[in-house]
Amino acid sequence: MTAPWEKPGSNFIVKAIEGDLQRADGAGRVATRFPPEPNGYLHIGHAKAICLNFGIAEKYRGVCHLRFDDTNPEKESRAYVESIIEDVRWLGFDWGGHLYYASDYFERLYEYALRLIEDGKAYVDSLSPEQIRDYRGTLVKPGRDSPYRDRPVRENLALFEAMRAGRHAEGAHVLRARIDMGASNLNMRDPAIYRIRKRPHYRTGNRWHIYPMYDYTQCLSDAIEGVTHSLCTLEFEDHRPLYDWFLRQLPVPCRPRQIEFSRLNLSYSVTSKRLLGQLVAAGHVAGWDDPRLPTLRGMRRRGYPAAAVRNFCSCIGLTKKDALIELAALETCVRDELNRTVPRALAVLRPLRVVIENYPEGQTEELEAPNHADDASLGSRRLPFCRELYIERDDFREDPPAGFRRLAPGREVRLRFAYLVTCREAVREPVSGEVVELRCRYDPASRGGNAPDGRKVKGTLHWVSARHAVRAEVRLYERLFDDPNPAALGDAWLRSLAPRSLETVRAWLEPGLAACRPGSRYQFERLGYFCADAADHAPPARPVFNRTLPLRARSQ
Ligand code: ATP
Ligand code: MG
Repeated sequence: MTAPWEKPGSNFIVKAIEGDLQRADGAGRVATRFPPEPNGYLHIGHAKAICLNFGIAEKYRGVCHLRFDDTNPEKESRAYVESIIEDVRWLGFDWGGHLYYASDYFERLYEYALRLIEDGKAYVDSLSPEQIRDYRGTLVKPGRDSPYRDRPVRENLALFEAMRAGRHAEGAHVLRARIDMGASNLNMRDPAIYRIRKRPHYRTGNRWHIYPMYDYTQCLSDAIEGVTHSLCTLEFEDHRPLYDWFLRQLPVPCRPRQIEFSRLNLSYSVTSKRLLGQLVAAGHVAGWDDPRLPTLRGMRRRGYPAAAVRNFCSCIGLTKKDALIELAALETCVRDELNRTVPRALAVLRPLRVVIENYPEGQTEELEAPNHADDASLGSRRLPFCRELYIERDDFREDPPAGFRRLAPGREVRLRFAYLVTCREAVREPVSGEVVELRCRYDPASRGGNAPDGRKVKGTLHWVSARHAVRAEVRLYERLFDDPNPAALGDAWLRSLAPRSLETVRAWLEPGLAACRPGSRYQFERLGYFCADAADHAPPARPVFNRTLPLRARSQ
């Protein structure tokens, strides 16, 4: 899959960068950054931003920085930093030595703010937060100048220093850029650039009592690091004039260029840290790594390979228009990758006992089974076969409908890699009448599954040996939401949670799977893709598998 940013001149970002590279006064190099705030875990939307930023850097032989945008002491933590680092690595990207923190720039950002004050381009405002909102005006009503707008520079400097020293209460003052209260773009109406927060910061502790705002920090951090292209999502388009304004006012070492692209929204999912956090906090899912969540750790635990997530990000395109991408498109990338790469295995999720009446009691034989029909390098294993087996309950019908090719009284089917068997009788539980066992006969001359006389046997079933199979907990995941766009439902979004997005079954697995390592992935033949759970799978005593996806997309 060729990503949009790998094709020359293919989209607005590539065109802009190539134009800049040719400009005589340009930097002649490309440096991008991925700037997460460490206040939650990364999700599939972040994966798009990561693939784009690292992909662009790779294409132009530049660098991509990982920068923590950690200017809000309230919700940020070291634990989130570590999880983000782990997730970006898992996705397959490397920032080399370029790991940065906006909080490392606090001192320089403060000095830049002093410079703005000295130049008459920033002032300390002492209106209350409500008054500031009121003075700001609206889209149709121009803003009004604060009575503090013309405070003398010396007074501004003294107040700002006192704010830093912690001598003022939260909300008592803010530092604002002095731009234009009549601007049609509300972001330019003297935006706040520093506010007082008396909270310890996870990196700077109690050293600071003021923290810089996002718009002020982002452009200056980019400039300090020598970033050339600051790629961000569309909601920042209206902030670009402000981004450029700060860079024009200050003696920065470099003039990065902001370019916006559309956010990734995925159907039947939510991609916002806030909503994901609510699902976790309210216990609708088991944690940030719940396999039903589109977080990177959720997808990893579910068994999605990183390569599949990267392929998906490459194939969804890069636009200036927000769109809802089909979850099915992501699932197709996952199936394509797993189909090519993972070994096959036999497992029975909802067992029905089969007794082969003419197979000698106590006898066991081993049958050779390739691990992948198209890839001999994945090798083969030996499957034990004996008189008692399990097959899938669904693979038997007493009154088979037209077109049913599986087992029914009097019918013959192939057991994968084993023998042809014919069902003689279904044994019922006397009270409930439920079929509990099938009595079958096998054709000893059909070893490997081929009829000796060339007779046609259409159905092929998977099975396990009842005596050798291992019991496992298998978690069958479905979509978390019934509505294709839950976030668009506003306050009612939680009502579209699917009532049954997780079903747990006690399954039987071919014996070799008992020892596999957590995270190992397989295709269980005819059922889907599964992986040993990273947290709960404890071989060999307690095997636990997640269904990554069924073999085929569900219809609709
Ligand atoms: P959320 O809306 O989930 O809280 P955020 O934008 O606040 O996300 P950040 O940590 O600030 O989270 O995001 C880091 C980077 O990832 C930003 O550059 C942001 O533009 C980008 N990003 C976040 N969500 C998406 C998305 N859905 N699609 C594409 N890029 C995204
Ligand atoms: Mg953000």
